[in-house]
Amino acid sequence: MREAEAYPFGMVCYCCGEERDPSMMASLLCHDEVKLCRICIGWLVRQAGGVDVTPRLPVADMALAARFCEAAGFDVEQYDEGYAFVHLADQGVFDLARIEGLDPTTNHAGCYIITDDVDDWHARLVAARLSVTPIEDMPWGMHEFTLTDPSGNHIRIGRRTEDEGGSPWTEQPSAVITSSQRTPDVGAAVTAASMPASSA
Ligand SMILES: [Zn+2]
Repeated sequence: MREAEAYPFGMVCYCCGEERDPSMMASLLCHDEVKLCRICIGWLVRQAGGVDVTPRLPVADMALAARFCEAAGFDVEQYDEGYAFVHLADQGVFDLARIEGLDPTTNHAGCYIITDDVDDWHARLVAARLSVTPIEDMPWGMHEFTLTDPSGNHIRIGRRTEDEGGSPWTEQPSAVITSSQRTPDVGAAVTAASMPASSA
């Protein structure tokens, strides 16, 4: 075994071997003892052919947009007067780009943040007195709400209704079931993941 045995609370990442905050660790579904940090999971996504996507949201007033993002719990790293990177727990989530003459009433840009903690996010944003819609279970299978920034960007925050904080598998992964049992219903998972690009 590796160093993880020295840390009974599972704080050492099996991939990079670094000691990490437990809040940024996750276990493999079929091997609970194998714990990976968020940084390595991001690296593995790219190793497995995945991509990182960072939306670029247009803003009318950069200072106002930055204050809004900070009030919503994000960290804002200003690149220059017209551009900023927005992070959440050391992870890039979207960028802000100042657009001259942008009209917030006709700006229909936005992005989607997928998180298991939708209700916590909603409670926190309501407490911060920011503009949010009520949480709803949508016909496209998402438990979500929309946060609107001063530039008219619609930031949807949600999770799939069937996930409820669990794994993306509708059945157990094939690695831990016997040959007499079922295989994962991949088709159903793909259908549930699809949703309209925008209904705002
Ligand atoms: Zn790691």
